[in-house]
Amino acid sequence: MAIEKIIKILRKETKNFNPTLIKQIIIKHNKDPFLILICCLLSLRSKDIVTINVCNDLIKKAQTPKEILNIPLRELEKIIFKIGFYKNKAKVLHKVSKEIIEKYDGKVPKTEIELLELPGVGRKTANLVLGLAFNKPAICVDIHVHRISNRLGIIKTKTPEKTEFALKKIIPKKYWIEWNDLLVRWGQNICTPISPKCSQCKIKKYCKQIGVIKHR
Ligand code: SF4
Repeated sequence: MAIEKIIKILRKETKNFNPTLIKQIIIKHNKDPFLILICCLLSLRSKDIVTINVCNDLIKKAQTPKEILNIPLRELEKIIFKIGFYKNKAKVLHKVSKEIIEKYDGKVPKTEIELLELPGVGRKTANLVLGLAFNKPAICVDIHVHRISNRLGIIKTKTPEKTEFALKKIIPKKYWIEWNDLLVRWGQNICTPISPKCSQCKIKKYCKQIGVIKHR
C-alpha cells in the first residue's frame, strides 16, 4: 500500500531533520503530559523557533498547574510575551491549570472528550497530547499534515478537521501518531508551503502534486 511505502521512505529521509517542537520538549524535559499540553497551547499560531525558547523559559519557572497559577497573570504575560497572542495565551494557561486542579486533581485528563472540554484546547492540541503524552492512537492535523496529505492526493479535504477524519479512514491506526511527526518535518524541510522541493522529494512517485503550481 502506498501509505506504508511513504511512511517507510519518510522515516529514513527525516532521520537527520530537527525534531518537532514538542519532541524537543520531550527530549529535554521528559514525557510530562502537562508540559506537552501547555507547550502545544503556546505553539498555536506561533513560529516554532520563537516558541521553543519561550517554552523553555516558562518551564524553568513552572512545571505544574499549581506553579503556573502561582505566577500572577501580568508576570506570566512577561515570560511569554515573545510569542503571538501572548495575552490571550497567558489567560488560557491560567484557566487550563485551574480546571486541571479543580476537575482532575492536578493531572491532565487522558480522554479526547475531557481534553476538548479544557479551555483553549481544540482537536489539534487534544490529538497531540493523546498521542505524545499518553500513546493513544490519534492523528494531529496541523497545516503541514493538512497540506501534504492533500498534495499527495490520498485525501481531498478543505479543513484540518475533515483531513483528520479522512486520514483515519485510510491510514492504519498503528501509524496515526507518527503521521504528524513525519509530515511536519517533511513540510518544514522539503514539501514547504510555497514552492516545494519536488525535485529532491523521495516520495514524488507516490505524489499527485495536487494544487502545486510552482516547485523547485
Ligand atoms: S512531490 Fe512535491 S508536492 Fe509531492 S510530497 Fe514531494 S515535495 Fe510535496
